Amino acid sequence: MTGLSDSFQRPINYLRISVTDRCNLRCVYCMPQDGVKLMSHADILTYEEIRTVAQAAAELGMNKVRITGGEPLVRLGLPGLVAMLAQIENIDDLSLTTNGTLLGRYAGELKSAGLRRVNVSLDTIKPERFSAITGGDGNLDDVLEGIEVARSVGLNPVKLNNVVISGVNDDELLDFARKTTTDGWHVRFIELMPVVGEKEVNPSQFISVGEMRQRLEILGELEPCQPSVGNGPARYFQLPGAKGTIGFITPVSEHFCVECNRLRLTADGKLRSCLLSENEVDLRQPLRGGVSSAGLKELIEEAVALKPRRHHLAEGCIPKDRPFSQVGG
Ligand code: SAM
Ligand code: SF4
Repeated sequence: MTGLSDSFQRPINYLRISVTDRCNLRCVYCMPQDGVKLMSHADILTYEEIRTVAQAAAELGMNKVRITGGEPLVRLGLPGLVAMLAQIENIDDLSLTTNGTLLGRYAGELKSAGLRRVNVSLDTIKPERFSAITGGDGNLDDVLEGIEVARSVGLNPVKLNNVVISGVNDDELLDFARKTTTDGWHVRFIELMPVVGEKEVNPSQFISVGEMRQRLEILGELEPCQPSVGNGPARYFQLPGAKGTIGFITPVSEHFCVECNRLRLTADGKLRSCLLSENEVDLRQPLRGGVSSAGLKELIEEAVALKPRRHHLAEGCIPKDRPFSQVGG
């Protein structure tokens, strides 16, 4: 294993795989209200093709893989893909990000297939608000049940991703933080990224992590977790006596690009060098044209070389080519 690093000497060891652009929810901050043009099934990589990419990436030293979407659990047979990825020798961390609506149904199978842990998006614990944020189709009880089932089968730690939006769910900050003490929740508060139109979320609804932390002070001092946990951009803390953790993710107020370690594979087989850049390398055509393992590795290295030093979200530069639901967050 050689180990990849990009032009800025960042080690690249984390592959996020979007398995579908479909989703059973329409979260206001993620899906444009007018909908998105869906990929045709023929354009979406098969599980075997995804395995081939993951195998090549793992041989290059990418040992952490996260499955995402759209909503990954709407794609049929996902536990089968998990089993295929879990068998790849060098992958030592295999995880999933999901909206949780179907997690209760699949958590056991996913665990048996070799999944290590899950992150679940949960922006509110108020049923009506949940419907408003997610576009009306989802059921909060299903998500809460999914979280419990995931925990009980051992997909731990179950981390809860909470996008904080002023005037929408920011009044639940303290409730979520208290749950880290009362119920051992692991909550991650995420700054809202302005990636959909103003019709859906207005820029004035942004709240910085700095402001979130100020509001949480009333609950006691946030102690940094020692040793530091996670392999992503979140910074983790604990309230006094809490079993659970509070993470903060600051894509806007304090970009964490200097520590970026990831590539993203889109459902239609493009290797994207950054969530917020349009630089992509096509893998689908080479895969379907019989590319060798060495050729595939060269294409992965090409995508790594395209990684920009940083994104420019704070300066208003937003990629226009794909909605978030097609890149997987
Ligand atoms: N459907 C799955 C889910 O919701 O967890 C996986 C895909 S979703 C695009 C991945 C993550 O991106 C979610 O945790 C979601 O909250 C986050 N996300 C989507 N749009 C966002 C935005 N505008 N700002 C911040 N986070 C966002
Ligand atoms: Fe779907 Fe996840 Fe986007 Fe919500 S955040 S619309 S659940 S892909």
